[in-house]
Amino acid sequence: MANSKTNSNGRANSSGSKSKSGSNGTSSKNSSNGMQSSQLMKLFEEELKDIYWAEKALTKAIPKMIKNATSEELIEALENHLAETEEQVKRVEQVFEVIGKKATAKKCDAMEGLIKEAEGIMEACEVGAMRDAGIISAGQKVEHYEIASYGTLRQFAETLGLDEAVELLEATLDEEKAADEKLTEVAVSAINIQASQEEDDEEEEEEPAGKKSR
Ligand code: ZN
Ligand code: FE
Ligand code: FE
Ligand code: FE
Repeated sequence: MANSKTNSNGRANSSGSKSKSGSNGTSSKNSSNGMQSSQLMKLFEEELKDIYWAEKALTKAIPKMIKNATSEELIEALENHLAETEEQVKRVEQVFEVIGKKATAKKCDAMEGLIKEAEGIMEACEVGAMRDAGIISAGQKVEHYEIASYGTLRQFAETLGLDEAVELLEATLDEEKAADEKLTEVAVSAINIQASQEEDDEEEEEEPAGKKSR
């Protein structure tokens, strides 16, 4: 460990930012980065173990959300994403294969917390539109965590030159983004349905008495 300069730069490749001011600890030159890239590989593997645990936990958590949901659109969105999540678990296993490591899960404290929160919200909210809204909220937090994780993993894989891993991670990243957007859509359409129902109620009140006469 020759280089004990404070290397507080969490990001591996901050190419080009303020690099003119002299030789700071973090060089983005590729010539002598053997140490750097093996450390990045270690971090990549750790993050992979984390998301592997998270995805597996989600294959158990999403079914509980489905059971608690009432909106058909929400149930369908969750069922689709459950099927995707099961594939995502396998994709993470493929990435472990790419780096020649055994697939190992390491508890993700963040995902454990997000799932706990989801369970708390479901308990606290009355079944129906309110609980659905809570499930959407909790679900979107999960998706955002995954988007952050896969975005980082993909970037690491790119830096490490792991082309096959980049493709696998990007496929999942795209699914997480789509799942997040779908949940937004479900939320918006739920609000619209509610609004239009309120409108219908008003119209019924305003309707002339003649129409009721059957
Ligand atoms: Zn995940
Ligand atoms: Fe996922
Ligand atoms: Fe984590
Ligand atoms: Fe997801």
